[in-house]
Amino acid sequence: MIELKQLTKTYGSKQKATTALSGVNLTVGKGEIFGVIGHSGAGKSTLIRCINLLERPTTGEVWVGGTELTSLRKRELQRQRSKIGMIFQHFNLLSSATVYNNIAFPLTLIGTPKAEIAKKVNELLALVGLEEHRNKYPAQLSGGQKQRVGIARALASDPDVLLCDEATSALDPQTTDSILKLLLDINRKFNLTILLITHEMNVIQTICDRVAVIHQGNIVEQGPVSQVFLKP
Ligand code: ADP
Ligand code: ADP
Repeated sequence: MIELKQLTKTYGSKQKATTALSGVNLTVGKGEIFGVIGHSGAGKSTLIRCINLLERPTTGEVWVGGTELTSLRKRELQRQRSKIGMIFQHFNLLSSATVYNNIAFPLTLIGTPKAEIAKKVNELLALVGLEEHRNKYPAQLSGGQKQRVGIARALASDPDVLLCDEATSALDPQTTDSILKLLLDINRKFNLTILLITHEMNVIQTICDRVAVIHQGNIVEQGPVSQVFLKP
């Protein structure tokens, strides 16, 4: 479902260049939950941002659902991007929009008819357990509730892939567990492919099937979680 081939990313120009990724190869299968773990500065966020081309790779290929994204023209790229949902450490919600309208936003953007939006948003509100909070604004929600809105919004366009950028790093351990459980439920229910980056071992061990360890822009190890991190 996701395949990265010889992906490199260099920031800046010759004299002050920083190599964030140097030749990353990675394959994530349909329905898999794949984790990338590494210290701060290892290249995790560059990696995940290169998958939906929020960041343009310097060289290499990005395949999502059988399409190579780096060679696409703008319009086609936009279409393919709607198949990639993303959630963020700091949620990135619209503060002046209600829960309902935050979730509806991606559908509003592409001109989905109102009745269809209402049906979809109601389903998503039920899925993430926020039906009672539909008219609230983000500032009136807890961190966990905000991330539930983020998840619902990411799912609004029925993506094939969900990218999670340190999605639980701003949450306390108990809330983290409930968000991970929700992600696992969604993965099982829709056979949704999930790629997450994190610096937290607990996240990897709780929900990931396979893991890659990234260090200084290189994948230094990858495999099933139980093999890469032997449990004591
Ligand atoms: P992580 O997410 O693992 O903390 P990043 O992908 O953010 O790692 O960073 C990898 C490397 O790329 C670091 O050395 C970082 O300083 C550098 N870097 C990240 N973003 C930029 C940028 N926009 N401009 C220049 N250097 C960057
Ligand atoms: P607009 O400026 O287009 O009227 P609104 O924010 O008022 O935007 O909402 C657009 C539509 O979305 C409404 O007509 C309504 O059907 C639906 N909607 C908005 N908020 C809610 C909500 N909290 N519960 C159910 N439906 C809602």
